[in-house]
Amino acid sequence: MAFFDYRDGILHAEDVPLPRIAEAVGTPVHVYSAAALRHAAYGFSAALAPLPVARRAFAVKANPNIALLRLLAECGYGADIVSGGELAHAIAAGMKPQDIVFSGVGKTDREMIEALDAGIGQFNLELEEEGQVLSDLARVRGVRAPVVLRVNPDVDAGTHAKIATGQRETKFGVPIDAAPAIYARLARLDGLDLRGIAVHIGSQLRDLTPMERAFTRIGDLVRTLRAAGHGVSDVDLGGGLGIAYAPDETAPSFEDYAGMVGRVTRNWNVALTFEPGRAIVGAAGLLLTRVIWVKPGVTHPYVIVDAAMNDLMRPALYDAFHRFAAVAPRGGRMQAHIAGPICETGDSFARGREIDAVRRGDLAVFHTTGAYGAAMASTYNCRAVSPQLLVDGDEYRIVGERGTVIDRAA
Ligand code: PLP
Repeated sequence: MAFFDYRDGILHAEDVPLPRIAEAVGTPVHVYSAAALRHAAYGFSAALAPLPVARRAFAVKANPNIALLRLLAECGYGADIVSGGELAHAIAAGMKPQDIVFSGVGKTDREMIEALDAGIGQFNLELEEEGQVLSDLARVRGVRAPVVLRVNPDVDAGTHAKIATGQRETKFGVPIDAAPAIYARLARLDGLDLRGIAVHIGSQLRDLTPMERAFTRIGDLVRTLRAAGHGVSDVDLGGGLGIAYAPDETAPSFEDYAGMVGRVTRNWNVALTFEPGRAIVGAAGLLLTRVIWVKPGVTHPYVIVDAAMNDLMRPALYDAFHRFAAVAPRGGRMQAHIAGPICETGDSFARGREIDAVRRGDLAVFHTTGAYGAAMASTYNCRAVSPQLLVDGDEYRIVGERGTVIDRAA
């Protein structure tokens, strides 16, 4: 289903022509489709329906916009958070505390206290000492913290090194061979209600094989723990499901993913938590920009747009591909580099790519920017954080204000 599509030669977000948005709020601007978000959220839930699902916890890091989180709460989603700020966003969006899980390798005492006081549904422990501190904090409050232990299964996720988290040298989780002993010690702590295991091996996984390998190892661990007399009622399978960014890319469907999970976890007898981010929100957003110049270059011209790496960091950070398209294509094609105005060579969106022919002043978009787009915005080069706008049918509203460039405290 196309939520961003051409009508009479003009790219629309649902029923709204993008030039109308550019005129109303200027560029660059992040544009989201509520229908695309609902489509993905309900699609994922439907695929998981045959499984014993405890919660679908949207990974807030992918997009913390409160209007989007509110929409996901309406679709029955909770949140996977990694900071006190993300907790505040999830609560402000109306997500139920029971449906919130707290991941992250560096939770501060203050953040753990806030989460305990909020009554969240699960803490994902990343190291044994964190469990001891959390137990003490919980006992003082007369509660037991619901926890699972994040295990590092030592599996190569086959994704970009900067978003691979499941190999033993990464900072995440406890090594799988040390997990039984750590689990036994954590189980003895009064302030913890130790329920099971969590795993997350990386993001943008377009091949399910590494995930299946990791989950199989977790299944073996669950059996080992039970054989040692421990209760295991919950397993959190993390997020990581990849999406197609380039036209020739493929990605597993929600049904492929759910089928693999169902096969691997068939005899586990646990409630499953899922933490999808990118797969829910990635295709629900685009970044609308305007061409400032088409500057002559040595091999190809540079299309300099008014969006930059501070709006969309993924190309600079991970050499990521985002499809570029003219809002009102003129018919021709050109070979070009695409770059933003920031004073870094790394502020580049594409090199030597064939694109719609564009001229100074034309509107264009980067597609599939809903995940890890606005979420990673910065003010580098004193650029204001770009606004965010949510389209729903033929209506739209601003859900993120354009930032300011002067710090009044200075
Ligand atoms: N859960 C954890 C623990 C993560 O670190 C991440 C992101 O890396 C996610 C969930 C979401 O991943 P994705 O957006 O790839 O689904």
